[in-house]
Amino acid sequence: MRALIAGNWKMHGLLADVATLAAPLREPAESLACDLLVCPPATLIAAVAAALAGSKVAVGAQDCHAKHTGPHTGEVSAAMLKDAGAAWVILGHSERRADYAESDAIVRDKAEAAIACGLTPIVCVGETGTQKAAGRAEEVVGGQLLGSLPDDFAGIVAYEPIWAIGTGHIPTEADVIAMHAFIRAELVRRFGLAGHGFRILYGGSVKPANAAALLNLPEVGGALVGGASLKPEDFLAVARAVAG
Ligand code: PEP
Repeated sequence: MRALIAGNWKMHGLLADVATLAAPLREPAESLACDLLVCPPATLIAAVAAALAGSKVAVGAQDCHAKHTGPHTGEVSAAMLKDAGAAWVILGHSERRADYAESDAIVRDKAEAAIACGLTPIVCVGETGTQKAAGRAEEVVGGQLLGSLPDDFAGIVAYEPIWAIGTGHIPTEADVIAMHAFIRAELVRRFGLAGHGFRILYGGSVKPANAAALLNLPEVGGALVGGASLKPEDFLAVARAVAG
């Protein structure tokens, strides 16, 4: 299975930035050994999808509502994101879990809605620094997997230790190997053979300088990239670190 390098632009980007953030990915994506995905803010999905139409770069969203339509002021449904040109959606990012008290149950409902609409969910899990220091990383991640993934899950899991996001700190290679092996085992225990097929991304301060070391570890099926995805040359350098 090809690795996936997914960029999370978070709350960055205006229409005028599409030409500099998305368009430069078109040509280089043709010769990469991995799949490439960008997840701009909802306001830019249609423009980014248009800029990347016919290319090998996929477009996703950063969140969706669990309901398809209805009286939910300010919200955007999975169907609306698909209509705008998204094929993927990041769900349960730690910033949303923290800022909006998104529980595992909410993330699971969103994942169900996304799958029902034909979007591929990227469900984020990861422990805080305090939880890691207390030796509870696997317990926390195991609980998030159990609660956030629906029984009909068909998508991707992103392991993002919260203490590594935007900090420049990354786990040791041994820790990444151990956590990804744990997640794989949990997926297989719950989903049987299908559990072998879900890519598991690593996320947290992935940069060109550390990408090769992180991306070629066992069970690391790619990366979810925040800051470095806002510089196309860095984002592409991360993607080129995937061994062909
Ligand atoms: C993220 O927010 O998902 C992330 C991985 O950010 P960064 O790469 O900037 O640490």
